[in-house]
Amino acid sequence: MKPLADFMEPLLRAWTGPLTSELVQTPGKFGLGRVPERLKPDATVHSVCGYCSTGCSLKVHLRDGEAINLSTNADYPVNIGMACPKGWEALTPLTAPDRGVTPLVRDKGRTQPVDWEAALRVFVSRVRDVQTRHGKESVAFLSTGQIATEEMAFLGVLAKFGMGMLHGDGNTRQCMATAVTAYKQSFGFDAPPFTYQDFEESDVLVFVGSNLCIAHPIMWQRVLRNRNNPEIIVIDPRRTETAMNSTQHVALRPKTDLTLLYGLANLLIRMGAVKREFVDVSTTGFDAFAEFVAGYTPEKVSETTGLEIAQLEKVAGIIATGKRVSFWWTMGVNQGHEATRTAQAIINIALMTSNIGRPGTGANSVTGQCNAMGSRLFSNTTGLLGGHDFLNPEHRAKVAGVLGIDEALVPTQNSLAYDQIVAGIESGRIKALWIIATNTAHSWIHQNSFRELRKKLEFLVVQDMFYSTETAEMADLYLPAAAWGEKDGTFINSERRIGRIRQVSKAPGIALSDFRIFRLIADAWGCGEMFKEWTSPEAVFRVMQKISVGQPCDFSGIEGYEMLEREGGMQWPLPPGAKPEKQRRLFEDGKFYHPDQKAKFLFESPRPIAEETCANYPFVLLTGRGTSSQWHTQTRTGKSDVLRKLYPKECYVEMHPEDAAKLAIGENRRVIVRSRRGKLTATAFLTATVSRGQVFIPMHYATTNQLTYADFDPYSRQPSYKYCAVSIERADG
Ligand code: SF4
Repeated sequence: MKPLADFMEPLLRAWTGPLTSELVQTPGKFGLGRVPERLKPDATVHSVCGYCSTGCSLKVHLRDGEAINLSTNADYPVNIGMACPKGWEALTPLTAPDRGVTPLVRDKGRTQPVDWEAALRVFVSRVRDVQTRHGKESVAFLSTGQIATEEMAFLGVLAKFGMGMLHGDGNTRQCMATAVTAYKQSFGFDAPPFTYQDFEESDVLVFVGSNLCIAHPIMWQRVLRNRNNPEIIVIDPRRTETAMNSTQHVALRPKTDLTLLYGLANLLIRMGAVKREFVDVSTTGFDAFAEFVAGYTPEKVSETTGLEIAQLEKVAGIIATGKRVSFWWTMGVNQGHEATRTAQAIINIALMTSNIGRPGTGANSVTGQCNAMGSRLFSNTTGLLGGHDFLNPEHRAKVAGVLGIDEALVPTQNSLAYDQIVAGIESGRIKALWIIATNTAHSWIHQNSFRELRKKLEFLVVQDMFYSTETAEMADLYLPAAAWGEKDGTFINSERRIGRIRQVSKAPGIALSDFRIFRLIADAWGCGEMFKEWTSPEAVFRVMQKISVGQPCDFSGIEGYEMLEREGGMQWPLPPGAKPEKQRRLFEDGKFYHPDQKAKFLFESPRPIAEETCANYPFVLLTGRGTSSQWHTQTRTGKSDVLRKLYPKECYVEMHPEDAAKLAIGENRRVIVRSRRGKLTATAFLTATVSRGQVFIPMHYATTNQLTYADFDPYSRQPSYKYCAVSIERADG
């Protein structure tokens, strides 16, 4: 099979191809290209960063109509003039040599560049053919937390209501599904309650499985602005950068966090820290919870977690005496085998101590991708648009009514989750897959299994800004997409703030925004009429606003894109008549979204991990973010000379010096790390940031997920990337 690069490099050097549709943009010169006519040639444009969920605002500067550089926005309430290395380098990937400039079709093993008309013919004919032979549900899509909310909504409506697909999920399943499930069950809606100002107003901050310092560096800067000399408790097996800057590092054994949290709840009850009035008025299930955690004595918790009883009591005491305690969690919790209950154990502690709905408090999930929160509300994958429910007939009727479509087009059942779609390929239930802006062949847990499964697919479409990702290289049809900076729309950040992204550059060649690609496909499929009012991202924003009416996320009071730019983004909810404010948190009135307006205490006994260590695989492998200069599978950050200088080029493994000494492994020696599923070669970094018996490998390297074990939280179906058994040996024998 000839690599796509063989075709793309000559095209990049000399594209002069014809246009095939009115919707196709004029191909500009390569490089950043000229910005849209409506922007002044020397304008400065404010746009939310396209990497992480912090949602920093960047000022992109144009000269003679070209984006030349960027600076940070001191007036934006999120980053107040700061940006991390990824943000400063946000324009660099746009000019990378492996940008897709034209669709590519693979035929009998050969890949050919084609125009959009030909690409659309292939897309429609092949997808229809699979649906005709195997049923409409045999085609699924995998989407992303990286495209604009308006594009997510377009894809979700097109695929499910227009093309008859039932199954579609996003890469947000890999990072945020746990938080969604935990909030929905506990609060009655997927509703992270906080605002970033809470980082600065707490007197105690508790981070669980969160290396904020590296993964969300600007949020960490907000912590450093806290003037209350706060206690910072970090619950993490690794001595991460955040743990090094804590006042109390709770270095528990991996995946014993649920036991620890139940033990802390028990100690808090014993210490009299329960705020009974709040618990009685605003929650249900506390008494059963108290009875349950009574069995989690300090002795039992100490034995399971490996922590000293004195430290357990100290941490509980800090929480008990804190006036404004905030709890923050991210992937260390979400990517676990009992993740939902662990997140809810955090929520339970916040509820029982009444640390919610007040400044500096909250049970707060920090999101991963720039628009994971948009995906949670509007991807139309496992939840119906606008936080609605496919299983609820009233919700289906409402959404169909707003969209002006036949209610019968709205599925009455939920989609399979990501792992179930992958399993569906294995079983033959899923025969064709459309992947948008995600790199499954790199990021999916136990990646070798996905690569093998590709052979079972009759048709694979990949829509991405790069033709060179591990996943795009496998495609039968590649659709070149515009990147962040080359299109308009909105993102929603971790604190529920809806912010604008702006086009400051033209996509290369005949690459198109995902929005335009979806429009072309809708027309080619024959369901373009369904989208006759979806003429621009802002028009779709209006549709989304109507769908949000009556929901906890109601943002129909936003006057439009202009207001988002004027006000520095707006946090939902903002129903009509509500006063726009720079910082908004939820549950200030002690009312939640369940019908009885009460939050629920939810809990169950910890369950064993799927793959324990043994004599052959004696080390626990932890994975996570390596540096703040790396983003996920590095398709973008890997393009920057500046960022590449800030992290090791080759895959590395952190291991404890005493473990290394036993295996005669010296600093920087090459080692082989092996699991039951695969092996990789890495450089040994000897460091006590990991405890004995544990090793750490960053997730960004292409081989990392050859090792991981495909286990999933039973409620959120989120993969458990944080624990599997491996062995280590010297590469030179
Ligand atoms: Fe962008 Fe996140 Fe860095 Fe802010 S912290 S500049 S949003 S990557």
